[in-house]
Amino acid sequence: MTETRTMHGLNSLVFDNSFTRLLPGDRETVNSRRQVHQACYSRVRPTAVARPQLLAWSREVADLLDLDFDPFASNEAAEVFSGNRQLPGMDPFAMCYGGHQFGNWAGQLGDGRAINLGEVINRRGQRWMLQLKGAGATPYSRTADGLAVLRSSVREFLCSEAMFHLGVPTTRALSLVSTGEKVIRDMFYDGNAQYEPGAIVCRVAPSFTRFGNFQIFASRRDEDNLKRLVEYTIRTDFPHLGEPTQDVMNQWFAEVCRTTADLMIHWMRVGFVHGVMNTDNMSILGLTIDYGPYGWLENFDPNWTPNTTDASGRRYRFGQQAQVALWNLAQLGNALVPVFESTEPLQEALDLYSARFNSGSHEMLMQKLGLSAGDEQLDRQLISDLLEVLQLAETDMTIFFRRLADISCEKESQSVAIGHDDALSRLLTDACYVPEQLTESVVQQIVGWIRRYQERVQQQSISDTDRRDRMNRVNPKYVLRNYLAQLAIDKAEQGDPSMIMELLEVLRHPYDEQPDQEHLAAKRPEWARHRAGCSMLSCSS
Ligand code: AMP
Ligand code: MG
Repeated sequence: MTETRTMHGLNSLVFDNSFTRLLPGDRETVNSRRQVHQACYSRVRPTAVARPQLLAWSREVADLLDLDFDPFASNEAAEVFSGNRQLPGMDPFAMCYGGHQFGNWAGQLGDGRAINLGEVINRRGQRWMLQLKGAGATPYSRTADGLAVLRSSVREFLCSEAMFHLGVPTTRALSLVSTGEKVIRDMFYDGNAQYEPGAIVCRVAPSFTRFGNFQIFASRRDEDNLKRLVEYTIRTDFPHLGEPTQDVMNQWFAEVCRTTADLMIHWMRVGFVHGVMNTDNMSILGLTIDYGPYGWLENFDPNWTPNTTDASGRRYRFGQQAQVALWNLAQLGNALVPVFESTEPLQEALDLYSARFNSGSHEMLMQKLGLSAGDEQLDRQLISDLLEVLQLAETDMTIFFRRLADISCEKESQSVAIGHDDALSRLLTDACYVPEQLTESVVQQIVGWIRRYQERVQQQSISDTDRRDRMNRVNPKYVLRNYLAQLAIDKAEQGDPSMIMELLEVLRHPYDEQPDQEHLAAKRPEWARHRAGCSMLSCSS
């Protein structure tokens, strides 16, 4: 007998749109670009597209929404997640927010190409906002078109899910749909505009509220609405804190500082560079949000940024992300001053951020090295020396930590001559990009550090196997290397989207050894060193 199963299709989604129900909306209903005052959002419909086609789907996100059906079996998912068809209960809107861009107050920004469809309540009572990115112009589109291209949508879809599987807080991606329409983009702002295929990602998060949602009201001295948004946010997104009294508001800001610090530690752990940490791209929930010109660190270089738009100042370089997050939190704190009775708790929370980041990032690096707490001074020295050693020759951070886990630290291993130490040779050849940089002196310094590390490990009684297991749980083997995403994009642009789902399958288990996928864990090939999309990205997406 065949088992009968109830399939849960899109019509089973239950919506409860608290954002539009409880917060003030824009009274103007025409979809024209403008300044929107005294409102948290504007209702707006997605623009219909010609031939939507589903290219990729995340079954884990579908699970969150209690969806259980084959989205590729009909065109329904493509119709709904391109915005062509609205489901009963949806109430589409774009949010109003402002932000500091590259350190300067930019005024009103808002969802220029994101349209929220509504909030789904799942069987566990969780709230999930569905949001289309690239579904057409809104009142916040300013001079742009409200659209997104395939390349940046593939990058957003894959990276959102890769980050989740790595254990990094992030907004999620349910679907990737191509629109069948062309979008014009000048990728490097150099006068070479071209038509590119358009696409739409359906993003999913408990909330897409950003620091900038609060900042816009503060900048307009609209304290009433600032207060309403703070209270709504606490009640809806931080319900564990209780009713929003002054004390609860203090706790709330402290929690935002804490989760932001934890997010920065995760980014540093996996080698993620966001690329555009403007305050409108900072989630109030401490999620990674807005995947634009982000990149994955290949050779360990704290000064690296993938964002060509930021090449001159390198404000958002890898090694500076924690400081920038603090600066952004301070801007949020400033915006909140009018609704806080005293500024002291705000300052205390900012101080707490620094303390938490400092101790948390030390702990994170100890875990990456498989070390338990010991003499903290000495361990800090060992770590800072490692960060120097990693820069002597171009060394792939991800591969280095996986190979370090393979090096034996049990007694006697250190007396093995370099040439006869297989694990050591493998570390050097697999992780280093330019063999000529491995001069005798550089090799000596790297090995010198590894010898110190081996001695340090010996102070704790841990077997090689246990240490490797421990390290491999925090040091991913598979990350979304920039060139891998680009290969998937190249194929998709030629009409074959299969590599997107293939990569996602591997990235579902980033910490596991996957012997037949070894090639996807290798260092970046030389052809990708200077190719657009692999090492250089711009904000044009
Ligand atoms: P971003 O740098 O991607 O975070 O975007 C900054 C602001 O520009 C946000 O308000 C976006 O909604 C808006 N924006 C970016 N690209 C577009 C676009 N193609 N059309 C309309 N608005 C856009
Ligand atoms: Mg943004």
